Amino acid sequence: KQPAAADARADDPTHVSEAGLPRTAVVGVLGGGQLGRMMALAAANMGVSMRCLDPADDAPAAVAARHDVGHFRDADAIAKFAQGCDVLTVEIEHIDADALERAAAASGVDVEPTPATVRIIQDKYAQKIHFAGNGVPLADFADVPDAAALEAAEGRFGLPFMLKSKRLAYDGRGNFVVRTHEDAARGVEALGGFGHGLYAERWAPFVKELAVMVVRSRDGAVLAYPVVETIHKDNICYVTEAPADVAPHTASAAARAAEKAVACLDGAGIFGVEMFLLPDGSLLLNEVAPRPHNSGHYTQDGCLTSQFENHVRAVLGWPLGDPSLNCGCSIMLNILGEAEGDEGVRRAHALMARAYSTRGAKVHWYGKPGMRAARKVGHINVSGSSRAEARARLASIDPAAAGALA
Ligand code: ATP
Ligand code: MG
Ligand code: MG
Repeated sequence: KQPAAADARADDPTHVSEAGLPRTAVVGVLGGGQLGRMMALAAANMGVSMRCLDPADDAPAAVAARHDVGHFRDADAIAKFAQGCDVLTVEIEHIDADALERAAAASGVDVEPTPATVRIIQDKYAQKIHFAGNGVPLADFADVPDAAALEAAEGRFGLPFMLKSKRLAYDGRGNFVVRTHEDAARGVEALGGFGHGLYAERWAPFVKELAVMVVRSRDGAVLAYPVVETIHKDNICYVTEAPADVAPHTASAAARAAEKAVACLDGAGIFGVEMFLLPDGSLLLNEVAPRPHNSGHYTQDGCLTSQFENHVRAVLGWPLGDPSLNCGCSIMLNILGEAEGDEGVRRAHALMARAYSTRGAKVHWYGKPGMRAARKVGHINVSGSSRAEARARLASIDPAAAGALA
């Protein structure tokens, strides 16, 4: 059924009330996973209707968005979808950027952030070239189109170094750590061959991984959220802690670096900026996501305005909300599938039950169909008035996760 707002939109050619807000706003999101779901839940609270385009018939976002079944890499599906929206955005960067650009031109619908930004970011090598050209500090990197280039990368970077897929990478799928000379050829094979599009990166001997959410308004102003520490397990985000336990000058340098990276991209919305903190205190950018990000989930309960709310505000051209922390410390624990099927559900429920009986803890469940190992199925945000209190609360839910932060 068509949401009432979309019906009203057809009768209201101006869309804008006296207060300058659209009377009815339909935001279309390419992708209907958990990020789209949390975006749609935030939008619903602001009276904004969402639609999502996702191939799965049980997309998690459908709980709060009208769901169009279709693929975000299918040009025809994107063109049709665009016609029912006032603004288009994405919850995943692996979409068909050319089709999105054509659909926007044909329908006159705004796309935020711009298809050009998504195109740069979805190719991690193009992203590196872009940021290097804008003076953002990065680990050295090199294109690896063939065996000679691979050999040259090993000679230049030494061992270990990182071999990465340029495209369709997430949760470390697409990365291969080359530890020995023999590993290099294995890495190429594991990542689908040179034809797949590979590049190499110098190893970053980080002491911590940091991340900053940055929201960018339609007029190009950027606003950084607090700097968080991110801890990965098997390449998947596991725990984040805000504020990161780093020196104040490191936190401000990370915030400025993240703002600088986002400032050299076009379009409005929220961006996730991943960084490495090196032993000498310097920072390198790892990668940027043009959408809400796992390292920003804590903002739902730990900040005055969540990353999802600010994304919706930004793409609509509304005033941005305050990104400050609303507590002393906010920790996020991902609920990762620990086993397939019923056993995985049993373990996730045990974790959630402990969270429900812990002060300051909030459960966010994604409603994904089925349960699979190593898959993000939800997260728990834990707030405290101090770092010690938040960590103690986390320890009563998951001692191992608290141990990872200690
Ligand atoms: P995401 O799910 O964040 O999109 P991804 O699949 O794009 O991840 P990366 O962010 O490139 O992968 O890398 C995943 C993790 O691997 C990083 O968070 C970091 O822990 C490690 N890593 C990546 N690049 C390097 C590097 N050059 N040196 C050392 N470790 C690295
Ligand atoms: Mg990535
Ligand atoms: Mg990453």
